[in-house]
Amino acid sequence: MLHPDIILKKSSISGKGLFAKKNIPKETILLISPKVRVYTISQYTALSKKYKAILKKYAYEDDEGNLVYHIDNVKYWNHSCNPNASYIGDFEITIRDIKTGEELTYDYGIIHPRWLPAMKCHCGTAECRKLIKRESQNSPVVRRLHLLAKAAIKNAFKVKQPLICDKAFIRAIKELQ
Ligand SMILES: [Zn+2]
Repeated sequence: MLHPDIILKKSSISGKGLFAKKNIPKETILLISPKVRVYTISQYTALSKKYKAILKKYAYEDDEGNLVYHIDNVKYWNHSCNPNASYIGDFEITIRDIKTGEELTYDYGIIHPRWLPAMKCHCGTAECRKLIKRESQNSPVVRRLHLLAKAAIKNAFKVKQPLICDKAFIRAIKELQ
């Protein structure tokens, strides 16, 4: 489920993107319980060309090496080399304040499938690495994002969290703190 203040709009980065329709403060959880389909590499190999192309465009690779495809608008979440959100545990969280109308981004360097070639980046930020490819766990990019997401989740109970009303999620957040 996506944060209620997120809408889908045309993006200047690529195709469609997810945008804030109101200011969203730093340390806000943007996504819980995503609706996904998970494909093993052998399941992917057996798919038709058409479906392979869709997965190549939208799917990411999880820690087990499977391809994960969001079946809803979450798949339009665009990449930036200087993102305003990142992952920790099962949560996507803002790592800085987001203004009304701003596009939500995360860094595909953490999740880009290892076996796919690098893609040209059009994020347009001063930090742009020009190519989007899987970054190693020890790279400065991944380490920085991990630290930012960790700092954000530590303060998660200090801001309004429209998505968090379930005890199981509160427990999961506390475990990450
Ligand atoms: Zn870039």
